[in-house]
Amino acid sequence: MSWVKVDQILDLFLPPQCVLCGQSTACRPLCAGCLADLPWLDPDCLPAAGEFDQLWSALAYEYPVDRLITEAKFAGQLSTARALGELLALRSPAGTRRPDLVIPVPLHWQRQAERGFNQAEEIARGLCRQLDWRLATGVCQRLRATPAQSKLGAAERRLNLHAAFVARPLPPALHILVIDDVLTTGATAQAVARALRQAGAASLALWTVAHAL
Ligand SMILES: [Zn+2]
Repeated sequence: MSWVKVDQILDLFLPPQCVLCGQSTACRPLCAGCLADLPWLDPDCLPAAGEFDQLWSALAYEYPVDRLITEAKFAGQLSTARALGELLALRSPAGTRRPDLVIPVPLHWQRQAERGFNQAEEIARGLCRQLDWRLATGVCQRLRATPAQSKLGAAERRLNLHAAFVARPLPPALHILVIDDVLTTGATAQAVARALRQAGAASLALWTVAHAL
């Protein structure tokens, strides 16, 4: 049985507990105290960069956010990934324009098959469920199983990502929100954005759960 299924089944039977302090809590993954203690960033957006007209990250990539994201990614904690998406919805910047489509940064199909899910997609799912936005998972694809970005320098990252993504042609004038777990150099998200621009996206925003400052 996959981790994903185990996680889903456990969710049905166990009383929800805060994943950080273990207290019972009405809302997963964190109790109100741990939620308030998270390293929240200013609700202001980061300056527009590259293909993105708007960039925003909710949290600093430090403890315990790094732990939550690692759990979501490698321990099959789907509910944690979705809850991180719900946190994004909770703290979304004032005056946010409703996107026509929400597109998670895709994994290569091989990596997604190994892992059983794409954490960015589950984060986007949590966000869309809260805000009633439209999740689009089939629009953008990762063509190559590129080496992990975290092992590469900035120039190597760009090279690594050259032509790594492709997107289906889009109807005109769409505003698209791209979702990822962590913003580091932004090279991956920019490569996704270039594919979406080529496919006809009119405007692009990037939201991530965390920002590695
Ligand atoms: Zn707690």
